Amino acid sequence: AGWAPASFSAEGLTIRFGGLTALNKASMQVAPGEIHALIGPNGAGKSTMVNIITGFYRPNEGTVTLDGVNMAGSPPHAVARSGVARTFQNTELFGDLTVLENVMVGFQKRLSYGLFAAAFRTGRFHKEEAECRHAAEALLAFVGLTGFANEKARFLPFGMQRRLEIARALATAPRLLLLDEPAAGLTTQEIDELDRMIRRTAALGISVLLIEHHVDLIMSVADRVTVLDYGVVIASDKPGIIQNDPRVIEAYFGV
Ligand code: ADP
Ligand code: MG
Repeated sequence: AGWAPASFSAEGLTIRFGGLTALNKASMQVAPGEIHALIGPNGAGKSTMVNIITGFYRPNEGTVTLDGVNMAGSPPHAVARSGVARTFQNTELFGDLTVLENVMVGFQKRLSYGLFAAAFRTGRFHKEEAECRHAAEALLAFVGLTGFANEKARFLPFGMQRRLEIARALATAPRLLLLDEPAAGLTTQEIDELDRMIRRTAALGISVLLIEHHVDLIMSVADRVTVLDYGVVIASDKPGIIQNDPRVIEAYFGV
């Protein structure tokens, strides 16, 4: 795949869990290089959408296309290979690995050596490992974790674990990055840093789908916003319009 921001589209997604319809003919589109926020009350189906996009769930109906190619039903590793990376609502790091090693896990699938070369430590392995280490250090700088490379991930403060997860996702060289509630549990200052990090990510040519509750962050960073309510898309527009949409205010902003 060439390096260009991905255009992404979900059309008519329906998924049922027993009697519950978690998504009901939900459609949304992310333009190349766009920062697109997906919002809605708890249980609206946001994480389910992410799980379908990344191949963890298979929809009962509908299509998920990346640059026009349907991915619905493809397994997670195939979706990842086509350029989609994610972070999880609850961070899923390797706690006993170092910060640097966690990022290197993300690079793993990009290296050309196989298990054989790794086991026998060929020259090629050493060269690629050095390059990989170098690139991992650059990514740690990108997310503001320079100086923490050799710490065990489990000992990092929560906000830094969040950033490490983003670095690991970026290591897979995604063209579409999905962030599931990245601001949850962060301080105001950390949310400001996250805001800048998301902008810098998009500036690299990576389309971003941001699932968030933090209204200030969404209004600041998103180019467009899609609103889910009980599995139904009730609005999709620019933040300023979303913020004043009576249906959205009633379903989501209205307290
Ligand atoms: P959100 O992320 O918007 O808070 P979710 O996508 O996690 O919402 O959940 C939407 C609905 O689907 C919820 O009612 C949730 O309980 C249900 N749900 C999600 N995943 C599953 C699953 N694997 N099995 C059964 N129900 C699920
Ligand atoms: Mg969720």
